[in-house]
Amino acid sequence: MAEGPLVHHYAKQLREVLQGREVRIEFGLRKLKELEPSFEKIRIDKVEAHGKQFRFHFEDQRILLVHLMMWGSWRIYNKSQPWDKPRERARVILHTNSHTAVVFSAPVVKLLTPSELQNNPNWGNLGPDPLRHDFSSKEFLRRLEQHPSKEIGEVLLDQQVIAGVGNILRIEILFRSHVHPRRRIGSLLKKEKAELLRWILKLFETWMKQMSRRNTWIQIYRRNGKPCPQCGTRIQFFRQAGRITYACPRCQGE
Ligand SMILES: [Zn+2]
Repeated sequence: MAEGPLVHHYAKQLREVLQGREVRIEFGLRKLKELEPSFEKIRIDKVEAHGKQFRFHFEDQRILLVHLMMWGSWRIYNKSQPWDKPRERARVILHTNSHTAVVFSAPVVKLLTPSELQNNPNWGNLGPDPLRHDFSSKEFLRRLEQHPSKEIGEVLLDQQVIAGVGNILRIEILFRSHVHPRRRIGSLLKKEKAELLRWILKLFETWMKQMSRRNTWIQIYRRNGKPCPQCGTRIQFFRQAGRITYACPRCQGE
């Protein structure tokens, strides 16, 4: 499951081989196949991640948006290197003169103009992303406070409030902040919101730094019934916003 830090990690590698380069693109999806002639030789001006989205900006202003959801993955191959995944699962193949970057099984691949992206109700208008230079904590709090009656565990997964938080991050951010996932936004104290913000920034950064190692920073995700690492109480789990979440009933209150 690709949460923000993993998406930024992949984007960095893609940027190294694709940004500023001329590419030839093949699409594995029928709806985009007919556009291939316009991608025979085109420069990628920018490769960026925003939340869980990959965005490739072409010299003609078009933007290729890719979202891995639960199943997609990227590979970067040298020209002579054999692929380790079947070609029929390739959704987009980007060729430079030295490398081939391939996204496999990604359920979301879209070609959009900047205004189409900005106005898209699902993919546009993303909230601030803690791993981008343009992150604004003020903007995050403004978007958070637009949902006073919603539960914090649900709102943290809303990409238009904060981009890049997935299930693991929302659970660990709330645990470290001592805020229960069921708390309504309108009930949060100023100091609790400050703690949330602090742990959001800290855990995104921690995950980025530990990318190649085991995720030793994860404390309660998938640890239902096990003792809380801070107080020894059994970790509970329940369903929220369609996903399983975990909490310590003592540290996070009930
Ligand atoms: Zn506890």
